[in-house]
Amino acid sequence: MLWLVVLSAFFWLLAPPLVAWVESVRAGETTAEVGFWTVARSLAGTCHVPWGRRASPIIRFALRSGEGRIRATRTPGRSAWVVEVRGHQRLPFGFAARICSPPAPPARFRAPGLTPVVLDADEPHHLAYCSLESTDERLLRWVLRHAETRLLLDDLQGHAHADHVEVLLAGTVVILRATAPHGTDGGRAVELIAPGLVDTLRRLSDDLDDLATALVEAGEPMSLSFLCRGCGARVADDPWHCPSCNAAMHRGCREMAGGCVGLACAAAPDALPEAPT
Ligand SMILES: [Zn+2]
Ligand SMILES: [Zn+2]
Repeated sequence: MLWLVVLSAFFWLLAPPLVAWVESVRAGETTAEVGFWTVARSLAGTCHVPWGRRASPIIRFALRSGEGRIRATRTPGRSAWVVEVRGHQRLPFGFAARICSPPAPPARFRAPGLTPVVLDADEPHHLAYCSLESTDERLLRWVLRHAETRLLLDDLQGHAHADHVEVLLAGTVVILRATAPHGTDGGRAVELIAPGLVDTLRRLSDDLDDLATALVEAGEPMSLSFLCRGCGARVADDPWHCPSCNAAMHRGCREMAGGCVGLACAAAPDALPEAPT
């Protein structure tokens, strides 16, 4: 009988701190993730919460010419969050480009043929606060001739409230990555940065859809069965094949895009989380 009394007393003492601990853990999770739900609601999108605590929630929303997804990542050992917005285009636009604000050195891993593009200050397509690289300067200039797009790109840092913004136009997908100020948690970073990135994504997505339509009308071959999904060029001798959807990409394009760019691919970095089976 005595052991029952001891056991009851033990649980009676232990229960309050245990409840407090569980509540604090749950409160911590909610604080970190509430920003994702706020942004999802503002975009009339949905928020998909992953199983486990390793990945961030993924926001999914509609674009006029495709589908948008938002997530946040943090490199191990670094404290700053990176917010990433991707626009999966309904039509491939056939080239790769990288736009960095503030200007950054060329990417280490990149699409073959991605070279710096320097526009003089007196040129109408000039961007004052960005560095430019492209596999096809003519097509990048086509995008930059839109004054509204140029204004958004040239004020990326200010518009996104971020320390550093990188825009990748990667064959079929538009990727915008922004580094949040130090000390901002994942949910807050998404709330702060994603709206500005989404504005720019919508503009670029519309422009690139117009470009893709024009390319198809001009008779450019855009079949994805033999072209790299990351840059639109023909895939050479030693392509990388996605282990999940088997799409072929240049190895540099895969590194640049952070993985497979297939919208429905389970191995893509922004694949929607599934319940474990
Ligand atoms: Zn490629
Ligand atoms: Zn894939």
